[in-house]
Amino acid sequence: MVVMAPGATGAQIEAVRARLESTGVHVLVMPGELTTAIGAIGDPERVGALNLEGMAGVDRVVPISRPYKLASSELAHHEPTRFTVDGRVVGGGETFALIAGPCTVEDREQTLALARAVRDGGAAMLRGGAFKPRTSPFAFKGLGVPGLELLAEARAETGLPVVTEFLDTQHADAIAEHADVVQIGARNMQNYALLEVAGKLGKPVLLKRGLSSSLDELLQAADYVLKEGNERVMLCERGIRTFETATRFTLDLGAVPWLKLHTHLPVIVDPSHASGDRRLVEPLSRAAAAVGADGIIVEVHEDPDEALCDGPQALYARDFAGYAANVAAHAALMGRSLA
Ligand code: PEP
Ligand code: MN
Repeated sequence: MVVMAPGATGAQIEAVRARLESTGVHVLVMPGELTTAIGAIGDPERVGALNLEGMAGVDRVVPISRPYKLASSELAHHEPTRFTVDGRVVGGGETFALIAGPCTVEDREQTLALARAVRDGGAAMLRGGAFKPRTSPFAFKGLGVPGLELLAEARAETGLPVVTEFLDTQHADAIAEHADVVQIGARNMQNYALLEVAGKLGKPVLLKRGLSSSLDELLQAADYVLKEGNERVMLCERGIRTFETATRFTLDLGAVPWLKLHTHLPVIVDPSHASGDRRLVEPLSRAAAAVGADGIIVEVHEDPDEALCDGPQALYARDFAGYAANVAAHAALMGRSLA
């Protein structure tokens, strides 16, 4: 939409019309009381390249179409995207996927015990980081490839597909070998080179929202994965930075129904990183189910006091089954059953 300045002359309006028509877009001139607006319907890239802002009499150019293309429910798809991870349904509106496990893989005993506990409690997938993005370079960065191998062992024993973070393109082969779902962490949402490689691994991708990223930016990041021909992408609201410091981040629950309106991709919620406090994890999980999330990714530990990472937000493994039942009851109110 080109908005002309109040004093724009008829000749200036005609000049804009002529320039637009030279690219083959459909042009609609709408005279108003004070200003004239000129609608251009067609390829936004070509209109953008016309430099209309610089033309005499033009006040501003307002893009109407969405900047995200493939993730948009407007253009690419109308039906919600639904896919399976080893038989577990993600998206589509009838199921609720519970992804649970430790923040980070610590050792064999811990990983296997947690995998059994979350499977018995009703989890659809096991989460666990082998490569951890840490705020301080001196903090525990994960076990690396041996951690991936422990996750693979846990999958072999429990049958749970594994969700793990892809941090560095150098790890692509190891991640492709061991992950069932490739997680892109909040800190890497705008690491576009990593997103393109993730899109090429042939695995479903769990894309977390950046700490200070808008939903428009999240959907444009999803476009990076989708454009590689990978349609199996789920988005994750994990809390954003706001002025509020009482919780670790601020869980933007409004993001869930907003995303449901604007994208066909499944949306899950991470109440653990959003709150940083296990006491808030269940109420936020129930709320996520109530606003229509397609699932939850939640941190669980046998002994959170001894956890190497994110202990204060980890649910006790012994509480997981009760937690899962309460969340499942809220998902059921939305017509969803555990995936
Ligand atoms: C995680 O899931 O362990 C993690 C690091 O989350 P985020 O990228 O959302 O901080
Ligand atoms: Mn964590």
